[in-house]
Amino acid sequence: MFVSFRLKRTYLFALCAAAAIAAVVWTFGHTSKTAAVSAKNTQDSVRLPIIMYHSILKDPKYHGKYVVSPQTFESDICFLQKNGYETVGVSDVVDYVKYLKPLPAKPVMLTFDDGYYNNYLYAYPLAKKYNVKIVIAPVGYYTDVYAEKDADHPNYSYLTWGEMAEMMSSGLVEFENHSYNLHYSNKKGSRLGAKRLPGESRYLYDSMLKNDLGKMQERMKEKTGCVPLAFVYPFGAFSNESVHVLRQMGFQATFLCTEKINLITHSKDCLYSLGRFLRPSGPSSTSYFKKVGICAKP
Ligand SMILES: [Zn+2]
Repeated sequence: MFVSFRLKRTYLFALCAAAAIAAVVWTFGHTSKTAAVSAKNTQDSVRLPIIMYHSILKDPKYHGKYVVSPQTFESDICFLQKNGYETVGVSDVVDYVKYLKPLPAKPVMLTFDDGYYNNYLYAYPLAKKYNVKIVIAPVGYYTDVYAEKDADHPNYSYLTWGEMAEMMSSGLVEFENHSYNLHYSNKKGSRLGAKRLPGESRYLYDSMLKNDLGKMQERMKEKTGCVPLAFVYPFGAFSNESVHVLRQMGFQATFLCTEKINLITHSKDCLYSLGRFLRPSGPSSTSYFKKVGICAKP
């Protein structure tokens, strides 16, 4: 009995000692990590250019403001990698802001709006080939209503939930909320994207956002198991009054179409109204990125 107690005491002591050592090691490791963060980002801030693509198609007759070729996207990736840029997802940026996890020295984010099937067909294989991250913002209604019945056509099909889940499982593709069904701008008298209507009460506006954006969050969770972290304003149409509701709903970042480089700090506020640069067809990667403020290494 006594021996057994002694043994237990010895065992307990050993356990406590191990825990204490582990705690010291963890604390030391944690402190070193924190030190590494501040060493890497001396200003506690990092410049983040975000690029905005939509469709990717091979046929040149479709190329324009919202459609680029697979070659253009591939050339952009090669340009960025050659010049030391590393792609990040929304979760990487949120982790930097909230948990001080380091970002690459030269981060860049590649986003795709509207959830076209051609993103799966052309962008996803290139993302895998070059091991780059991409962020896609689909419209839930398009997927629910059109994706299954008009599947697999590069020109007009939308992503299915299954394709989204498959891309997500690669760890290279993140999906954000582009509304469930607010992506229209040409109906007479209707709102533009998620913008507040003139004279609309705050109560009705807040309820509309909660219903529509909330439905997309639910569909994403139900169909892919993941809940988007960010809201991408359709057409970049923004109302100040939306900010409070979106924060309340748990969105940690929002994206606009304002062309500016973002300064990411450790304040959560910097993640709202992120700017993006539209990538049209036409300019070479070198001249396009020069305009964005990303220059080739000398
Ligand atoms: Zn859109």
